[in-house]
Amino acid sequence: TYVIAQPCIDVKDRACVTECPVDCIYEGERTLYINPLECVDCHACEPVCPVEAIFYEDELPQRWAAYAAINAEYFEQP
Ligand code: SF4
Repeated sequence: TYVIAQPCIDVKDRACVTECPVDCIYEGERTLYINPLECVDCHACEPVCPVEAIFYEDELPQRWAAYAAINAEYFEQP
């Protein structure tokens, strides 16, 4: 899955939302989130992000490694 990391916070440009063919990018209060159960790893979102917030999960910078779980946990809320 692809993951949205810290640069998205308080930016939420939404260019990725327009690109995603399966509509698996959702808007939270301060950031966008990718639903890992719906992402089809198409890569369309990553190059359009103006703040380079999107990474393939295995390529997340170490300082943002926690964002894989942060994205996933957003969709576990009741
Ligand atoms: Fe959507 Fe593709 Fe990005 Fe996954 S990689 S979030 S399917 S645009």
